[in-house]
Amino acid sequence: MRPPSLEILATDVKQTAYPTECALIRNKAAHDHAKSSASQRPHPQLRNGVLDADICVIGAGSGGLSLAAGAVQMGASVVLIAKHGMGDDRLNTGCVPSKAPLAATHAPQSPQEAGRLGAVLPEPAIDFGRVHAHVRGVIGAIAPHDSVERFEGLGVTVIQGAARLTGPAEVAAAGRQFRARRFVIATGSTAAVPPVPGLAETPFLTNETVFDLTERPGHLLVLRGGPIGIQMAQAFRGLGSEVTVVERTMILPRDEPEAVDVLRAILQRQGITITEGAQVAAIRPIPESRRVEVELADGKIIVGSHLLVAAGRKPNMDGLDLSAAGVETTSRGITVDARLRTSNRRVFASGDVAGGPQFTHVAGYHAGTRGPVRARSISLPRAMVSSSTSRARCFRARSARR
Ligand SMILES: Cc1cc2nc3c(=O)[nH]c(=O)nc-3n(C[C@H](O)[C@H](O)[C@H](O)COP(=O)(O)OP(=O)(O)OC[C@H]3O[C@@H](n4cnc5c(N)ncnc54)[C@H](O)[C@@H]3O)c2cc1C
Repeated sequence: MRPPSLEILATDVKQTAYPTECALIRNKAAHDHAKSSASQRPHPQLRNGVLDADICVIGAGSGGLSLAAGAVQMGASVVLIAKHGMGDDRLNTGCVPSKAPLAATHAPQSPQEAGRLGAVLPEPAIDFGRVHAHVRGVIGAIAPHDSVERFEGLGVTVIQGAARLTGPAEVAAAGRQFRARRFVIATGSTAAVPPVPGLAETPFLTNETVFDLTERPGHLLVLRGGPIGIQMAQAFRGLGSEVTVVERTMILPRDEPEAVDVLRAILQRQGITITEGAQVAAIRPIPESRRVEVELADGKIIVGSHLLVAAGRKPNMDGLDLSAAGVETTSRGITVDARLRTSNRRVFASGDVAGGPQFTHVAGYHAGTRGPVRARSISLPRAMVSSSTSRARCFRARSARR
């Protein structure tokens, strides 16, 4: 029986990023095939107490999951090391929870739009608690698709723990040692916290905590107007919060200014206050009123009930001990070449940690069978560069000869 094409797999993986449209739509045939042939796939071998695989993927987020699923179905033995469970940022703290409340806000925007056209509709009431439950429900519906069970069913060996490189070709996690022909670091990024005076002493939210709110913030201050800050501003405004975006330069500075002008006008029409060119001098908690104040360099004070820090992302490299493997880094992330190879020829990096554009589709592209990975890569795991079964056999034969 022919294996399912990677096209199908890639579609399947991409679908998880767009839960409302297609969380539960799967290519069942491909899925069943994948499961039924998992037992025939090579598995990592235990040699002298070290688990030896073709590919060891570190990080089970957008990039790591796509990569592990693709590689194992191409005939590689794969170890996947997951620190905080499967699926985040995208599933737990990123794309999915940030889009689910936006869907709920479409309803209240309709009367505003209707009003512009001369129709008067009553403002719909938003039950913040139910929106929160909806977000959790969406995550719960997608979670089985990213679960340990599903990946083990595909033939991936999943290890739950934080990975640390212990040498040029060895990794430790969960008290065990792993060796592999190729390693892929796909550890993603976390919210960067800028060195603003007073911020460390002030309670604030990030994308990791904002989706845990069960009560609507009265007035949300959003520090910085990048893509994450703007989408959260729009979501919370739509849910009925007062929202102020405090941006150092202009919102969405990497986007086309003409497009940003259009968007800015829409956001302002929706009632979001946008303060651009605002240098933050200090941030302070106001304990008596449980509020937060942001002081700007021109002396202006903005007071809100909650502060969301959306001031860029920091690559997740802490604790990986990359220097033990000779992997070079900068403050932007792991240094890679056009084929995503690091300064250690056995180690690759993909997704947010590789320091390029930080999007789900970029992480998926890095893991996929097209683009730089496919172009001329004979050094990347063969499992990732071709969908032909003969190539996969070639890879297995070469691995066996190692
Ligand atoms: C609020 C928000 C909204 C977003 N919205 C969008 C959007 O609409 N569209 C879009 O394209 N992108 C969006 N993104 C960006 C997108 O989520 C990321 O670009 C994408 O998830 C990056 O994938 P990744 O595989 O590099 O990292 P991640 O998905 O973050 O996965 C990294 C994984 O590695 C694990 N890990 C970290 N360290 C270790 C270790 N030492 N050992 C083992 N595992 C480790 C982490 O626990 C995590 O599970 C959004 C991000 C946020 C925060």
